[in-house]
Amino acid sequence: MPAPSARTPADALDVLIVGAGFGGLYGLHKLRSLGLKVRVLEAAPSVGGTWYANRYPGARVDIQSLEYSYSFDEALQQEWNWSERYAAQPELLRYANHVADRFDLRRDIELDTRVEQMHFDEGARCWHARSADGRAWSARFVIMAIGPLSSPNTPAFEGLSSFEGRVLHSAAWPHEPVDFAGRDVAVIGTGSSAVQMIPIIAEQARSLTVFQRTPAYAVPAHNGPTDRERERRIKADYAGFRARNRKMRSGFGSELSPHPLPAMQVSDAVRDAVLEERWAIGGFSLLGAFTDLFTDMRANEFACEFVRSKIRSIVQDTTVAAALCPSHPIGCKRLCVDTGYYATYNRANVSLVDVNRAPIERITPHGVLAGGREHAADLLVLATGFDAFTGPLTRIDLRGRGGLHIRDKWQPGPLNYLGLAVAGFPNLFNLVGAGSTSAFTSVIVSIEHHIDWIADCMQWMQERGHTTIEPTEEAESHYVELMHAIAQQTIFLSCNSWYLGANIPGKPRLFMPMAGGFPMYAERCAAVARDGYSGFVLH
Ligand SMILES: Cc1cc2nc3c(=O)[nH]c(=O)nc-3n(C[C@H](O)[C@H](O)[C@H](O)COP(=O)(O)OP(=O)(O)OC[C@H]3O[C@@H](n4cnc5c(N)ncnc54)[C@H](O)[C@@H]3O)c2cc1C
Repeated sequence: MPAPSARTPADALDVLIVGAGFGGLYGLHKLRSLGLKVRVLEAAPSVGGTWYANRYPGARVDIQSLEYSYSFDEALQQEWNWSERYAAQPELLRYANHVADRFDLRRDIELDTRVEQMHFDEGARCWHARSADGRAWSARFVIMAIGPLSSPNTPAFEGLSSFEGRVLHSAAWPHEPVDFAGRDVAVIGTGSSAVQMIPIIAEQARSLTVFQRTPAYAVPAHNGPTDRERERRIKADYAGFRARNRKMRSGFGSELSPHPLPAMQVSDAVRDAVLEERWAIGGFSLLGAFTDLFTDMRANEFACEFVRSKIRSIVQDTTVAAALCPSHPIGCKRLCVDTGYYATYNRANVSLVDVNRAPIERITPHGVLAGGREHAADLLVLATGFDAFTGPLTRIDLRGRGGLHIRDKWQPGPLNYLGLAVAGFPNLFNLVGAGSTSAFTSVIVSIEHHIDWIADCMQWMQERGHTTIEPTEEAESHYVELMHAIAQQTIFLSCNSWYLGANIPGKPRLFMPMAGGFPMYAERCAAVARDGYSGFVLH
């Protein structure tokens, strides 16, 4: 471990990790195994992060569980048996708790501990953290494992506080079951969470009104019990399977290669056959159909029209079907993976309000007023997403060298180097946040990659007696330029997505994830390490 400075408090931790989701749990395990003194602070009363907070009906992964799971421990991946192809939230939460117990992590985790303040002490070369209830910690390194999607977004709807029914947010769902029977439910939003919950609420509620701003592309999950034969096959060489996945742009999906020719070079019949095959397989496989889907608008449009034709064939009311057909490029916003979403609009108790034609004017005591008409509701569900990537960090009083606040630093957008570090914030690593490929991968793959890189970096510093590491502003701006240049070669800048911060009024528009694919990104991080952490200043 790097030598502490003379002024480092004697009781300082080596590493303070904020967040006990999958990132914080693996970080604790890995760094503790290197002999470091590590502590995890978690705001929630439980481990599990995303899978503790997002308990809405139908919440489940959209990447198959055999691929959305830890790979760091062979025994763990052999012994855990997922019950379904796409695990639901309760099973994911059980998995997080199992990992916490199996690796004896709880003794170093403090739950119900929200970090409100984090200041860098230049003299002592360490971080001082303070929780909402006034407790304090010092640590030489900090890992912000606070999640890319952990800061729920609640739009400022006029009249919201006057609503006399119950208001729920998809990302802060109550722990007791919510009874929809006999209720008039309004759901605002049609992103991934809404697409998962709408079919289930519709089956129970007296009426369901969905308020849609941007229609979603949803592809069938074809969820079901785990195929035990496939599981046996994968587990026979799980390490090989994971390694092949890490060679994929998304860090998963290696069982299915894209068609060898770009969509633009094959006939309509071949294109349709490939897309039909992927639709039948389900999930994200559709986006991997052709290599040019993300780089050529014309190729992308074939896939868009393919899904629109599916929508039109499923939804009986032609006006509703037309309203459900998206016009933006597919994959530009996160693709939704559904179970019966479009068919839900054939139910007599379900109605769709297109807020582009009938804007929400205000929430009334008894419903939602949109386009001059009040839609009755006694339960209002906000499926309005997150202040992605930056929100979890900027709501903390986080100050680096010279008292620089992260909110000021990120005023033009989330400047960063390698998605891991920020100039002016020494010894602070940001996990799976802005600048990383996490949003386009199975996030656990990205989490393991980041933690392993950080652990190697800390060991390297220890061997050379370094106390601090921090990227240069030059490296940071080159990296952000590179991110932008890569995004410009894709379809990603052509729609208003949360990747761009477009869902949050006033948020700077900067494409936040790295769109270069996981292998390229991982190689870049590895090259920086091989070059003695080029782009970083070490003391
Ligand atoms: C509904 C939903 C579905 C998803 N589905 C998928 C999927 O199918 N595939 C996929 O790859 N990814 C998915 N994701 C992304 C998901 O966030 C990641 O897969 C993964 O769970 C992130 O783990 P994490 O540990 O980085 O963050 P999180 O799981 O978000 O954990 C962060 C933790 O930090 C805590 N925290 C935040 N701020 C503070 C603070 N100031 N002080 C103390 N604690 C704090 C939070 O309470 C939380 O427990 C989904 C996300 C959501 C919201």
